[in-house]
Amino acid sequence: MQMRNIQVVGVVGAGVMGIGVAQNLAQTSHHVILVDISEEILEKAKQEIRNNIRFQSFFNKNNQAESSDDILHRIKFSTNYKFFEDAEFVIENATEKWDIKKEIYKQLDAICPKKTVFAANTSAISITRIASITQRADKVIGMHFMNPVPMKPMVEMIRGYHTSNETISTAEELLVQMGKEGILVNDSPGFVSNRVLMLTINEAIFLLQDQVASVEDVDRIFKTCFGHKMGPLETADLIGLDTILFSIEVLYESFNDSKYRPCPLLKKMVDAGLYGRKNGQGFYTYNRAS
Ligand code: NAD
Repeated sequence: MQMRNIQVVGVVGAGVMGIGVAQNLAQTSHHVILVDISEEILEKAKQEIRNNIRFQSFFNKNNQAESSDDILHRIKFSTNYKFFEDAEFVIENATEKWDIKKEIYKQLDAICPKKTVFAANTSAISITRIASITQRADKVIGMHFMNPVPMKPMVEMIRGYHTSNETISTAEELLVQMGKEGILVNDSPGFVSNRVLMLTINEAIFLLQDQVASVEDVDRIFKTCFGHKMGPLETADLIGLDTILFSIEVLYESFNDSKYRPCPLLKKMVDAGLYGRKNGQGFYTYNRAS
């Protein structure tokens, strides 16, 4: 099978994941079209990518490394989907809500060339369900990137019911270009990673709600007893508590199984605007620059 050298990649969503995906692509010489719903969000994304690149180069001490301006030059920031007409491959990283994603895929399908592959970087939504919105179900795949994207070499790839082998090869090729590898699994809401992780995080929040242990002690047990790098509550803060809530709600609706009911404390924290690292306050408090 002939490999495609993908040069122009569309990225939908400039939040936690979209920023990381766009940065990683631009740092591996791709031209990126990054689209979100407001100029303000895009300006913040640009600033964050600049800071991330400076932070990386501070540790790399590689004189050959490209400047943040050169890398940012390869990213077109826009609120207009029409620029996706040039995209050979699109990675979608919008809010984990079915109603939002549904409208996005309708637009992408109408604008992008017929051969463009759509990769959903969703936490839990079925890839087969996403593909059903489009007229190109064979060209829709799940690419579940890990956070922070530029530092995580492994991606969970999901084969939807109609995903073709050619689409899988194209996605694998793009991952190689990005310096990453994929692990391919079959489609099911939450896939492998989040069917387990979201339940673990939700249960850890129930433990906190039931006053069984403090935030620090819940995390310490996972780190010191099981050797995990991060505890479930630290992980929740890194992902974003809003995204955790949306993901567990997707699992609850997808399986119609009460074991996925979101913990009331999680709902309350999201209602109170405690989203974790991304806005400075979750189970822990963060300096916004960290
Ligand atoms: P986020 O809330 O940080 O960002 C989502 C972005 O999507 C926001 O900037 C929002 O304005 C934008 N958006 C909403 N509607 C849009 C539209 N119509 N067009 C373009 N942009 C739109 O969320 P995130 O954490 O970046 O998550 C994005 C996706 O990636 C979700 O599906 C999530 O489940 C998944 N994911 C998240 C993580 C994580 O650790 N946070 C990891 C893997 C996958």
